[in-house]
Amino acid sequence: MSDSRPGAEQRRNLFALSRADFDRALATFIDRPYRLNQIYLALHRRGVEDIHEMTELSLALRAELSRHFYVATPRITERQRSADGTCKYLLRLHDGATIEAVDIPSDGRRTLCISSQAGCALACTFCVTGYWGAGRDLSMGEILAQVRLINREAGTTPSSPAPNIVFMGMGEPLLNLQAVGEALEVLTPSTSWKRITVSTVGIIPAIETMATWRRRPNLAISLHAPDDQRRSQIMPINQTYPLAELLACLRRYPLERGRKITIEYLLIRHFNDSLEDADQTALLLRGLRAKVNLIPVNPDSVLDETMIPPDAATVERFKNRLNQRGLFTTVRQRRGDEVHGACGQLRAFGTKAHGVRARQEPGAKPVSEPR
Ligand code: SAH
Repeated sequence: MSDSRPGAEQRRNLFALSRADFDRALATFIDRPYRLNQIYLALHRRGVEDIHEMTELSLALRAELSRHFYVATPRITERQRSADGTCKYLLRLHDGATIEAVDIPSDGRRTLCISSQAGCALACTFCVTGYWGAGRDLSMGEILAQVRLINREAGTTPSSPAPNIVFMGMGEPLLNLQAVGEALEVLTPSTSWKRITVSTVGIIPAIETMATWRRRPNLAISLHAPDDQRRSQIMPINQTYPLAELLACLRRYPLERGRKITIEYLLIRHFNDSLEDADQTALLLRGLRAKVNLIPVNPDSVLDETMIPPDAATVERFKNRLNQRGLFTTVRQRRGDEVHGACGQLRAFGTKAHGVRARQEPGAKPVSEPR
């Protein structure tokens, strides 16, 4: 009894391939580029989850492909909705790694906050994802699946306005730029580039790569402190890409008309919230086409107990000072608090583990079973 078909272990997950690997893997079976593109879009735009559903291909070709490939897509395994309508999703990937994505409704348009990595290696002291440690890069398909699955959950129809998409979930998108870039190509034009924001700690070589792209999403920089000493204290990556080099890189970054770089500034009580700090930030950003988004830090039981937000009056003072110094400044609203969907609070649901301080590898083991 021999089966000539390659076993499941020899078949490849079509869904997890980068564009280049996909083209290479299918070249033996399909020689026309438009056909390849059709399958690629069926998978990643239409969300086909089975090769047999690729009705644009002949039955024979579908059968042939099924002998060599399979499709394993992420699944939503948990949902947590908070009173303000924010919904946090846990997604389980084909290898058991878990990621989170958050759907934030506001004034008729939703914002999807999506992940680029399962975990994060950067260990910023204020961030819960970093606390749990490094995981792995998401594939382009895994990035897109978050948008598609959540849109489906939200009952999005072709006539619904496309949501804003922010890469502010788990991970550092610029350390997985290839997959992020490929995902952006599939997302646009149904979502305009202007509605997509990629947030980064400031990986300079990757920002320089983005500067060469034909089309670019909005860029947000997690600044969080006005000098190297304090920034390095809370963001170890600052030792690799210090402020002077980062700011020089941002000043060179090409911006389309009317666009600005968003500077995210986490406000931490008695650490970086004084008027002198506002002045120093304004000085640092002088001449940069930037707007500032202040984020009062969200405390969390796994973080250092100094991670406390300033009181509302201090936040207001800081904002007004930056505005006076000519920097358009807003304060980020806390959303999805009670589901830990707020900034920097993304972690696998099952590992809430309040008070547990041991670092774990997210994705090392599944944290909850699919329903
Ligand atoms: N690695 C990228 C993308 C993650 S974005 C980046 O750092 O920009 C996550 C956003 O949430 C960043 O602006 C980050 O600084 C912010 N954040 C992280 N921890 C936070 C916390 N405890 N409270 C509020 N915002 C936080």
